[in-house]
Amino acid sequence: MIGAQQFRTHTCVGAVAASGGSVRVAGWVHRRRDHGGVVFIDVRDRSGVLQLVIHPDASAALEVAQRLSPEDVISAIGTLVPRAPETVNARIPTGGVELRVSELTVLAEAAPLPFSVEDDHTEAGEELRLTYRYLDLRRTRRLRALELRGRVVRAIRGILESEGFLEVETPMLTRSTPEGARDFLVPSRLQQGAFYALPQSPQLFKQLLMVGGIERYYQVVRCFRDEDLRADRQPEFTQVDIEASFVEPKDIQGLVEAILVAAWEQAGITLAAPFPRMTYAEAMRRFGSDRPDLRFACEIQDWSAPAAASGLGVFGSVVGSGGVVRAIVFPAAGAGLSRKDLDGLVLEAQDLGAKGLVWAVPGPDATLRASVKADFLAELVDDVGATHGDLIALVADRESVAQHVLGSLRTRWAERFGLIPSDVWAPLWVVDFPLVEWNADEHRWDSLHHPFTAPRPEDADRLQSDPGTVLAEAYDVVVNGLELGGGSIRINRTDLQERIFSLIGLDAEQAQERFGFLLRALELGAPPHGGVALGLDRVVMQLAGERSIRDVIAFPKTATGSDPLTGAPAGVDEPQLRELGIRSTVPPFEAHAR
Ligand code: ASP
Repeated sequence: MIGAQQFRTHTCVGAVAASGGSVRVAGWVHRRRDHGGVVFIDVRDRSGVLQLVIHPDASAALEVAQRLSPEDVISAIGTLVPRAPETVNARIPTGGVELRVSELTVLAEAAPLPFSVEDDHTEAGEELRLTYRYLDLRRTRRLRALELRGRVVRAIRGILESEGFLEVETPMLTRSTPEGARDFLVPSRLQQGAFYALPQSPQLFKQLLMVGGIERYYQVVRCFRDEDLRADRQPEFTQVDIEASFVEPKDIQGLVEAILVAAWEQAGITLAAPFPRMTYAEAMRRFGSDRPDLRFACEIQDWSAPAAASGLGVFGSVVGSGGVVRAIVFPAAGAGLSRKDLDGLVLEAQDLGAKGLVWAVPGPDATLRASVKADFLAELVDDVGATHGDLIALVADRESVAQHVLGSLRTRWAERFGLIPSDVWAPLWVVDFPLVEWNADEHRWDSLHHPFTAPRPEDADRLQSDPGTVLAEAYDVVVNGLELGGGSIRINRTDLQERIFSLIGLDAEQAQERFGFLLRALELGAPPHGGVALGLDRVVMQLAGERSIRDVIAFPKTATGSDPLTGAPAGVDEPQLRELGIRSTVPPFEAHAR
């Protein structure tokens, strides 16, 4: 073991294998119990805990032991002895032994702690835990998550290296790349008035590396997006970024499958590959989402035709004006719901943008509770295959609204009603995304992924005439309803790239100004290429069984983008701003005011 013998000869768990003689360990005072003259201490290091026992015959050590506080850092010398049979703890690897201490030294004292780190569970709020993140990291659960993260990265690198991928670093101070988020900007001192952007991804650099003949690139890389934060978003996050030349989508997909299988292996889970593939259109139709959670059914069913004929006025007029009526059955979810609960469900649907929600809960003997009184309900129950106790939810609206609302309710309610099985892994590829979507506010097309994504060759001739129907050579990988990554085959011809820029509203001059370097590179021998980026934080979050990527990042930011530990972001001095040629239009930032 690396380390000075003056502090320790063994780790706490490693000590179990010590073959007699004197053993020295070092770590934190995890727990201490004083049994009338005999003191027991659980000392903890990264490997785990070891019980120390200090008897009165080691009087100097006993005196030290009696004064210890939680989380003091100590070093202890002693001999390893078996525990008395009745005190053996079979749940931990050191549970059969204890270190009978002859010498005990305090290496550093700990002041009273703001919260206890003894257990995985703590009452301390997130703000406090992040202020003292280094204490929070002492908790086993945090440590295990970081260890898992380390193993996952190593396994991923192993696969990529064995496939001949070369890790290349790309700049952090760069120009904006359009991944659809806001940029973080860094002012230039040497060229006042000019700004670098922190990369939203290394997209353009990895393409330029392909033009540069690197052929197989990867990078475990930090990316920056100034977006409103959610459980699965942070302003800085890590991607496993990959690009390769002379490949088809299935090559990249196979590689990603191997990577995810290896990552899951690190958590002791066998993930079955190849993953199923589903088109974007099918995912939207059946699940109302481009990242469907396939661990459970609750598929969206079309009930438009019978609804139109049902005689209910709203259904008739919605379907008559080109809308749809769609339903989901939530098995056994309805029986326990009160009228008030059910009314609450309607409000939820309205919050998501539906005009309303029709619900029905079949009871025993053909009885039925429902939000509307109508003859068609029996037929509905039959058609959607519902039985006693199920909850049927029905939305009548434009197709996009019905899909969005039912897609959101599907995952939300499946979770609430306990319909999602645990320990099931449902990976899939979503493919055949539209290349562009209509941006009604700005009256132009937007790229669904980014503007360097290639259209399917067979669709390219509709770019002018009917862009909305052009599908992209793009693919997303989804596991249990979480998008873990996405990528595409890229455009490698200047003329096609220029057409896409103009489609998304960049005129020739703007395209030259922002992406002239790429257009020029594509003129100088750009091989066919494609790639993908995986969200490492999300992968580890799923494997660690956490609900937020904050739990698998050593030093994350809060929902307002701040770091309570260092106080970032913070105000800067006036002279610093002057040097950058910047004048603030808001009063000097005072952390305590926010
Ligand atoms: N650069 C893309 C992203 O960050 C991924 C890719 O197309 O490779 O989403």
